[in-house]
Amino acid sequence: MNLEPSEEQTALRRLARDFVEREVTPHAAAWDRAEEVDRSLVKKLGEVGFLGLTVDEEYGGCGGDHLAYCLVTEELGRGDSSVRGIVSVSLGLVAKTIAAWGDEEQKRRWLPGLTSGELVGCFGLTEPGNGSDAGRLTTRAVRDGGDYVIDGTKMFITNGTWADVVLLFARSTDAPGHRGVSAFLVPADTPGLTRRPVHGKLGLRGQSTAELVLEGVRVPASALLAPEGKGFSVAMSALAKGRMSVAAGCVGIAQAALEAAVGYAGEREQFGKPIAGHQLVQELISDIAVDVDAARLLTWRVADLIDRGRPFAVESSKAKLFASEAAVRAAGNALQVFGGYGYIDEYPVGKLLRDARVMTLYEGTSQIQKLVIGRALTGVSAF
Ligand code: FAD
Repeated sequence: MNLEPSEEQTALRRLARDFVEREVTPHAAAWDRAEEVDRSLVKKLGEVGFLGLTVDEEYGGCGGDHLAYCLVTEELGRGDSSVRGIVSVSLGLVAKTIAAWGDEEQKRRWLPGLTSGELVGCFGLTEPGNGSDAGRLTTRAVRDGGDYVIDGTKMFITNGTWADVVLLFARSTDAPGHRGVSAFLVPADTPGLTRRPVHGKLGLRGQSTAELVLEGVRVPASALLAPEGKGFSVAMSALAKGRMSVAAGCVGIAQAALEAAVGYAGEREQFGKPIAGHQLVQELISDIAVDVDAARLLTWRVADLIDRGRPFAVESSKAKLFASEAAVRAAGNALQVFGGYGYIDEYPVGKLLRDARVMTLYEGTSQIQKLVIGRALTGVSAF
């Protein structure tokens, strides 16, 4: 096994690290307090190519591989998980899904804008009453001549207030396919679509999260992404890759926790020496380091499987499960190294812990990942 990124991938990682040090890290705490990332950052992310990493060049992307995507995602997560989430959703869940399932017209209409940062995408699957059991969604799309008319409510939608296009999942009345769910590309300014920001999140505070209410939203049949009734497959295929992206972001959180803990332990003195010299502090630091490496290796394995065209969905669930729990552990251990100073927002580790916590919840909770893995191992669905 060759676990070393290539020269090109290493250069890309350096580019991402420099970008994050310059454009993200200095502002992350202020964005967190203000509950909003500076929107102009999206254009900058597009200009540097991070919003089109794995999209083909003919649609404005860079045609990169998934390990390159993981390296950049890790750096973004190391700097600010809110920024990482904006990219993971607009590129990972929306642009990539249009690239995989869209027809030529849909790709030409949406991809150049999404990859350049002119446009932002969001992924509308979860509803107030249907989270883990997303297949039971109740948003309805009724065929009316050459159009569909959509009614329903979506909850917790990342990029929701910013988005120009919603990849929306609705139960279309007479769809023949799996669970009758269809996927639609809905322009966010379509009459009848209202967005309400969700405030007061524990973490990811800089990232827009919204409730979307759809009342008589009319879209032409050409807004249908993939054949009618294939929507649940579209959603699950997007999430299988999305979980790798969440895992890579979690590696970034854990890496940031490690760097912060090592730095502080070398400076802070108690009992007449730097706390780095106390064995139990070294235990905290070494536990973080093992979590970083294990999470990173699981995540890179998924990228490698995707790039080699091999099945990866279960491995992606394993990586997301482990990396999200590892990020929470790592940030908690780092906070412990900081003592009382870790508990105030002058230092970065409290934010790392708050941001990490949601990673065990979205794109499938830890329990749901275990059910995916358990089903693959036993052949029995326990959902
Ligand atoms: P529930 O499904 O009600 O789960 C509650 C608890 O029950 C959890 O512990 C869960 O693990 C457990 N549980 C449920 N079913 C089972 C079972 N069968 N066996 C064992 N335990 C079970 N959604 C989107 O569509 N797009 C987005 O962009 C998006 N962004 C998000 C951003 C944030 C900040 C947050 C918080 C959420 C976001 N979500 C998004 C929604 C997210 O995916 C859901 O919150 C998640 O799937 C869980 O659903 P729920 O919150 O309804 O919890």
